[in-house]
Amino acid sequence: MPSRSPLVKVFLLFIVGIIGPTGFLVYLGVQSIRTENLLLMKESRERVGKTAQAIQDQAQALISDTLAPLVQLANTLNGKSLAGIYTSLHGFQQEQGTWVHRLILLDSSHHLLYPIHESRNQPASPLSPLPLEARQRMQGAEQAEFKDHDYTTALKIYKSLEKETGSLRWKALLLASEAGCLMKMKQFDAAETQYHEILSRYAQEQNEQGYPLGLVIASQVGELQQAKGRSDLAAASHLRVFQDLVTGRWDLSLEELRFYVQHLTQRLQALEPHMSEGERDRWKKLQEQWDELKHSSSEAQSFVQTRWPALQRKLTETHQSGNPTLLFAKTDAREAIAYAPAYETGTGSLHHILLAEITTHPLMQKLEQTMAQLSAASNLAYRLEAVPGTLLTESRQKPEGKRWPLHGTLTQTVPALQLAIAPLSDVPVEQAAARRRHVYVGMVILAALVILIALYATWYAMSREMEVAQLKARFVASISHELKTPLSIIGFIGQKLQLGRYESQEEIQEYYGMISEETGRLKSLIDEVLDFSRLMENRQPYHKEPTDLVVLTRETAERFRNSQKEGRVQLDYLFEPVSCVIPLDREAISRAILNLLDNAVKYSSPGQAHITLSLKQTDHTAVLDIQDEGFGIPSEELERVFERFYRARSASNQENVRGAGLGLSIVQHIVEAHQGRIELQSTVGKGSIFSIRLPLTPTHA
Ligand code: ADP
Repeated sequence: MPSRSPLVKVFLLFIVGIIGPTGFLVYLGVQSIRTENLLLMKESRERVGKTAQAIQDQAQALISDTLAPLVQLANTLNGKSLAGIYTSLHGFQQEQGTWVHRLILLDSSHHLLYPIHESRNQPASPLSPLPLEARQRMQGAEQAEFKDHDYTTALKIYKSLEKETGSLRWKALLLASEAGCLMKMKQFDAAETQYHEILSRYAQEQNEQGYPLGLVIASQVGELQQAKGRSDLAAASHLRVFQDLVTGRWDLSLEELRFYVQHLTQRLQALEPHMSEGERDRWKKLQEQWDELKHSSSEAQSFVQTRWPALQRKLTETHQSGNPTLLFAKTDAREAIAYAPAYETGTGSLHHILLAEITTHPLMQKLEQTMAQLSAASNLAYRLEAVPGTLLTESRQKPEGKRWPLHGTLTQTVPALQLAIAPLSDVPVEQAAARRRHVYVGMVILAALVILIALYATWYAMSREMEVAQLKARFVASISHELKTPLSIIGFIGQKLQLGRYESQEEIQEYYGMISEETGRLKSLIDEVLDFSRLMENRQPYHKEPTDLVVLTRETAERFRNSQKEGRVQLDYLFEPVSCVIPLDREAISRAILNLLDNAVKYSSPGQAHITLSLKQTDHTAVLDIQDEGFGIPSEELERVFERFYRARSASNQENVRGAGLGLSIVQHIVEAHQGRIELQSTVGKGSIFSIRLPLTPTHA
């Protein structure tokens, strides 16, 4: 592999180790967050929309439910007689009094029909004259009755005319005249029969003044009973007429009603002493009813005159005049006018309008409940206003920043209720946010981890590079120094010999000795370097064969002693076993021992090297200790002396101690190749013990 500069390596490491993975992680994180956000937004929009629709539907349904009984009532009035209408409306109001305060019925021209007519439904119609001859006879009869008091003649003429005429109205009128004559003749029973005939058959006919005959005759029946001396019956009859009047049986205007009620009141006052307890109560109730009718009528009249035109305008403006609608009376929408138009079945044209003043409290309560439920289910905030700015109800929780993304009209009321809806931050959203937070934190942690690892790797690579560079520099420096010293000595001696600068043969001999010593030193240095490079590159295979370590150690040590100057080294042997045979590469182990011995001498004071070689054997291991009494190694450097090119400070300071810092790393390499271990104990100033521990049966040959 071509070597790259440290800078290029660092750059590549950054690209591969940091920018790549971090970028990829950030990309993944951003992608997942974006997708999640989109999903959330979509989900939230759909939720808001759906809930708004649901609220609107429910609100409309609730309003329809409120209006339903009134719409139904309005439709049942079609084709009913006035009395029937009054009974229905009155009955309804009695029943629904809790929420319906007032009912008003308008005809198609918006004239008041209930609780009172503004004018008669059927105005008094003119009486068609009798044929001339009959008219003359009629005049004769009237003269007989009113001037001559000849009731028999008058009765006879009335009867004959009654039989002849085809007009129902004339028949009814003539029957009434007959009854009048009979009364005057004091034939009360016969008169009563006539009255009953009119009441049962011609009650709806009008008299000459246009009053309904039913009413006129009914009040005359009371007079008759009184004339008969039956005050009790008279009172009962008058009370019945009174009741008919207040329950709207007769088509009369308020003024006409007043007139009749006044008339009856006078009669009843006179009859009061003859009334039973029950009748008196009934009269009292009727009077109250009459007062109520007067009151509600005048209120209805003022409503129609003052408020109705404006409401009607609003209905038209909002295009609601065709449908049943709620018109809110006040801004708080607590009261309303229910508007229920009814149409003729055939033509479809407006027949009448039923207006009901109602309280919307129950409706609003239900609406609030519905909104609260629906909003809670979808986790939304809501706000309901009658008109913009007038709050009706709102959710307990408000949206963040009070923003309402969705608002619009809620109902088809007048004015329409305004609904605003906003999503609340809810559990799913919070979960999503938490998920996103986790992703972010995870990403940051991962990125930080990747960066830290990459930084460490970079720092490690760089420091290794620098260390190697430093070691190389040191090696070059020391090796050149180591080479230079012997070479300059040899060179100096060579010069001396060449120039003949010596004084004796002994001197020449001394020079030769020096040359061979320095050459030996050079050789061993170069050998060391060559050994090292061979070993490091595993170029030299180990040839192991069973070898007696005791013998090998002794031979090597002796060889070493012989290579040294006489008396320079003192060697002691402390061998426990007599022999210790292990598969060994003899040459390599011997070189290791030599190296250690050489160091022991090098790092002892000159001429004072005292080395003890001891060999022990345990069950599995042979331990060879090479102990000197030299300078020792500081404890902080013990670990490092086995590193390549490393020379301890103590050694570097010794000017005359030469070395390349390779010896111990070669020893370590050899021992480890034998599955052994090298250990070191040392005390500065006292000496060092290097222990070679070799397994007795190595696992690999
Ligand atoms: P060299 O001897 O060439 O410097 P070595 O690898 O043999 O290299 O030794 C490394 C260093 O360990 C030496 O420089 C020396 O400082 C220290 N050292 C080795 N052996 C001894 C010893 N017996 N006593 C004291 N120091 C030693």
